[in-house]
Amino acid sequence: MADRMTPREMLERLVAFPTVSRDSNLDLVHWVRDYLAAHGVEATLVPSPDGRKANLYALIGPEVDGGVVLSGHTDVVPVDGQDWTTDPWVVTERDGLLYGRGTADMKGFIAIALALVPEMLEAGLKKPVQLALSYDEEVGHLGVPFLITEMQTALPAPAAVLVGEPTMMQVVSQHKGGVAITTHVHGYEVHSSRVHEGVSAITWAAKLVNWHAEQMEANRIEAERLGAEGVGADFDPPYTTLHNGLIQGGTAGNITAKDCIFSTDIRVLPLESAQDWLQRYQSHCAELTQQMQAIHPDAWIEVQVRVINEGCRREEDGAAEGLARALTGDNAEHAVSYGTEASNFQREGFSVCVIGPGDIAQAHKPDEFLAIEQLDAGTAFMRRLIDRLSA
Ligand SMILES: [Zn+2]
Repeated sequence: MADRMTPREMLERLVAFPTVSRDSNLDLVHWVRDYLAAHGVEATLVPSPDGRKANLYALIGPEVDGGVVLSGHTDVVPVDGQDWTTDPWVVTERDGLLYGRGTADMKGFIAIALALVPEMLEAGLKKPVQLALSYDEEVGHLGVPFLITEMQTALPAPAAVLVGEPTMMQVVSQHKGGVAITTHVHGYEVHSSRVHEGVSAITWAAKLVNWHAEQMEANRIEAERLGAEGVGADFDPPYTTLHNGLIQGGTAGNITAKDCIFSTDIRVLPLESAQDWLQRYQSHCAELTQQMQAIHPDAWIEVQVRVINEGCRREEDGAAEGLARALTGDNAEHAVSYGTEASNFQREGFSVCVIGPGDIAQAHKPDEFLAIEQLDAGTAFMRRLIDRLSA
């Protein structure tokens, strides 16, 4: 067990655990705990409230402030209905690419960190490495808040948190937040010849869908007006986006629709608030509900929030960003529109930065892959980090 593994061997081991968010991640977490124990590192598990899953943290090196947290999520998105040409749970090499679910998002980064634990132990670290592995990131960052709370009480304060989501090893210092909502418009059914006495769920859902488009258009115009002065100038597109990806409703052409259900996806600039956007939408729904109920009291709008996460803001002289820039030489500005656990750490007062091997373009798709070149670049980065923490 105390054998060394290369990052690639470690990646093969981790991908073989099918840690889809809806299933338990305990097999993976227990294996990691035993692997670390075999190297003399004691890991602590932070179980989910129902005990089916767990976060894991561990400290390598001296128990002093000023170390670096390496943060990753252990869960992956499902492969159901996706057309894979390889077995998603077996790392398969083809033309310099390593295929498998989670290779890019984000077991590659975790594999590098774990495989290099023996090197960390031998390096004589002056500042510690803290490993932070979470569960249920993909379904709304459900695990990481418990992990952060425990680490804050149990471990010395780190100088920086590096979140290893795939950035092609570029330094990402800010990302958008997100709100995912399901809206169920409950109408009132009548024969369409009596439509004035009914409440068509489709008609009222259409008003709500249109609200999304109007809000986004206003955001776009404002961003265009402000140009480089806009709070989203580093982003593409440089404003908060609103989108409805699914809609379903009605039963027949001559009945006012009783039900219409649709999804909302809002990607919120980090200097705006995801909570505010949600409230804005909810109060608009409340207004429309009043108008619907003036026609018939049974009509109403039900808003179910599936996921809400704030964005990650660029820090003034951020320690994590500075560290990542020093280790990579990347001095360009990178802002991305997908969410990460960096926002959870940042809100608890940690300095954060997102940097990891692989391309987000491959995440969540069939035939997800990590280029061997990226695995190597991530490994070289980690070795430079170890050197720096040992100096
Ligand atoms: Zn991810």
